Amino acid sequence: MIVVMKHAASEQDINAMIAHVESLGMKPVVLRGTERTVIAAIGEERTANVGQLESGPGVDEVLPILAPYKLASRELKSESTVVTARSFVCGGGTIGVMAGPCSVENEEQIVATARAVKAAGATALRGGAFKPRTSPYSFQGLKEVGLQHLATAREETGLAVVTEVIAPDDVDLVTKYADILQIGARNMQNYRLLEACGKSPRPVLLKRGPSATVDEWLLAAEYILDAGNPNVMLCERGIRTFEAHTRFTLPLASAPYVQAKTHLPVVMDPSHGTGHTHLVTAMARASVAAGADGLIVEVHPNPDKAMSDGYQSLNFHQFENMMHECRRIAAAMDRTLGA
Ligand code: PEP
Ligand code: MN
Repeated sequence: MIVVMKHAASEQDINAMIAHVESLGMKPVVLRGTERTVIAAIGEERTANVGQLESGPGVDEVLPILAPYKLASRELKSESTVVTARSFVCGGGTIGVMAGPCSVENEEQIVATARAVKAAGATALRGGAFKPRTSPYSFQGLKEVGLQHLATAREETGLAVVTEVIAPDDVDLVTKYADILQIGARNMQNYRLLEACGKSPRPVLLKRGPSATVDEWLLAAEYILDAGNPNVMLCERGIRTFEAHTRFTLPLASAPYVQAKTHLPVVMDPSHGTGHTHLVTAMARASVAAGADGLIVEVHPNPDKAMSDGYQSLNFHQFENMMHECRRIAAAMDRTLGA
């Protein structure tokens, strides 16, 4: 529920309402706007007596939040959230660009990639150090050594680093090295991991589960917000359908749909969303045209030799070309792409 305070409500009225919401067993979230203050009452609504809240001093009206997710909803917060990490900006007219290999393989590979993607205008470096692989026999990532290589690449280029965390116990370690925590598609409903990332001071990139509905995805984001982390980016990385021509099916409508329902920025992943290098640039262009707030793209110095996802990775030249084309589309929409 949202308690809209009157323009003339005093600080005492606001504090009394906060205490009242708490006494109903709900969590008060105070949003101070220029015009008026709004207090969201988050929690189980069935037991709360709306009438009691409505008659409180300084209250203008009490409105229900109709969406199943509350903190993520536009009903609660109408202004769009802009997520920043160092030079990386995502939202508010700036399209954040995260680029880099699927996996960190060695220092030379990640530093060379960081330099190339930065020169092409990317604002963050991606690279998996902990890899959730379909097969237990596939390369599982360099783990902490991979995180150290990412930190070296950041020192060399100044790019923000985004990397996946796959277990709640690893959140502190990854927080130590990374600027943005990535929660992978396979972990979208790992609620203990969502809560642990919600307690990290780092922004979170939450990938959509390949079989998750949009509401399930947004409720997963709600776990992170509810644990205290307001900096969540939603990443559409493609869903499982009957279609086998692409690795996954990338629903472009997720961008405008999710932007209408939530205030959180939406990042599109045309690499996992297509699974084929030759389709990535076209879907990156389409994502920008659809209004995405960010892109995450796999880039490798030599995709044929990549230890994971080489078949969907761009080489440096292809990435530079993608950026050039996407920048023109961004300009047509009065947006800025990357740096
Ligand atoms: C990745 O980004 O390399 C990755 C594993 O992505 P996803 O979780 O979307 O499959
Ligand atoms: Mn990958």
